[in-house]
Amino acid sequence: MKYYSTNKSVPEVSFEEAIFKGLPDDNGLYMPDTIHKLDQSFFDNIENMSLAEIGYEVASKYIEDEIPAEDLKKIVAETMNFDIPAVKVEEGVYSLELYHGPTLAFKDVGARFLARCLSYFSGKKEKKATILVATSGDTGAAVGAGFYGMENINVVILYPGGGKISKIQEKQLTTLGGNITACEVDGTFDDCQKMVKDSFLNPEMKDKFNLTSANSINMARLIPQSFYYFWTYAQLKSVSKDIVICVPSGNYGNLTAGLLAKKMGLPIRQYIAASNANDIVPAYIQSGQFNPKPSVMTMSNAMDVGNPSNFFRMNDLFGASWDVFKEELAGYAYDDKQTGECIKQVKDDTGYLLDPHGAVGYLGLKEYMNDYPAEVGVFLETAHPAKFGDVVEPIINEPVVMPDRLKAYAEGTKVAEPIKADVAQLRVVLEKVSN
Ligand SMILES: *Cc1c(COP(=O)(O)O)cnc(C)c1O
Repeated sequence: MKYYSTNKSVPEVSFEEAIFKGLPDDNGLYMPDTIHKLDQSFFDNIENMSLAEIGYEVASKYIEDEIPAEDLKKIVAETMNFDIPAVKVEEGVYSLELYHGPTLAFKDVGARFLARCLSYFSGKKEKKATILVATSGDTGAAVGAGFYGMENINVVILYPGGGKISKIQEKQLTTLGGNITACEVDGTFDDCQKMVKDSFLNPEMKDKFNLTSANSINMARLIPQSFYYFWTYAQLKSVSKDIVICVPSGNYGNLTAGLLAKKMGLPIRQYIAASNANDIVPAYIQSGQFNPKPSVMTMSNAMDVGNPSNFFRMNDLFGASWDVFKEELAGYAYDDKQTGECIKQVKDDTGYLLDPHGAVGYLGLKEYMNDYPAEVGVFLETAHPAKFGDVVEPIINEPVVMPDRLKAYAEGTKVAEPIKADVAQLRVVLEKVSN
């Protein structure tokens, strides 16, 4: 399979090159040059397949012979070692719980698959790869856990120190050890990001430490996110074949993966994009104008993105036509007040506890279903509410029960390299790690 850049000014690359590079040199985004349809027999039999079996069928269409079948089956099975149940919240409304992985958020799926693909290819090379990543919280946790224990790969995570990320997020980064090194940077998230960028732009460093990115726009994070749309269909096939799915979105990777699944033949009636106050895509659907803006902070903070990169992948899928875009996607945006009220109301009415991101998804789904009440609706519940206890507990006026694996992080001992926002100090850490 070849991958092209959405900006179309660099040559096509293999899957392996696409995932090691992450971003094409023309600053576009990689897209598969063919999106293969799955056979009708696959859909006829899908309810008898496991999530890992479905995942393998989907992934093999994107990777073809670059990873042999037995290896790819193993990669998919290890990625998907937790369930993703569609849980009934009320009549006709289901929550697709994507938070049963190690860090309790859907980013586990992409990070685990990327880690295993990179490790597979690195195993055939002489030099260890070093993943360098800056995080404002959740991405670092998923990447750290996803790459933990991978042979051939070291991970260095930069995070802003001095209480700029939550205690539990910090614990998720700093208690792993092994091949995962956390650097507590005396600076902001932007400083961390700049240090990563400067290191990649330094050819000597890039080469010496074999630096690789685990950025969210990597194709290998997108592909496995398609698996669970097929899995939703498999779980709900006996309830209804007219399913609509609402995706609470920030950078729109999750939704793009759903659109790819539909292109592969998955019969989803309608996708709905739901955003917080960072409403760039819903506004585009309304107006045809794509106007990126600086992000604003909200309680669904993993969706605080003012310039969503995967807009360009969606636009590419829709042939750069606004008419197609607004037909394929409904879009709605909600502020924090609506999100908080929603968490309270759904808890009171049904007993189901939403996290702030899932609440935005629930709101979008319900707004769409007002006009289409006969459909069966699914919203993606992208994180466990206990990850956002500070926000959720005052709303529902009771403590949120923390799952054991989150507690285990909380009880671990923090180990981090304190460094200044200075590439020379990062270099010292890289030297140490690579020896
Ligand atoms: C990253 C994230 C999102 C947004 O997903 P995108 O793919 O960037 O649209 C939503 N919810 C949670 C909990 C996340 O961590």
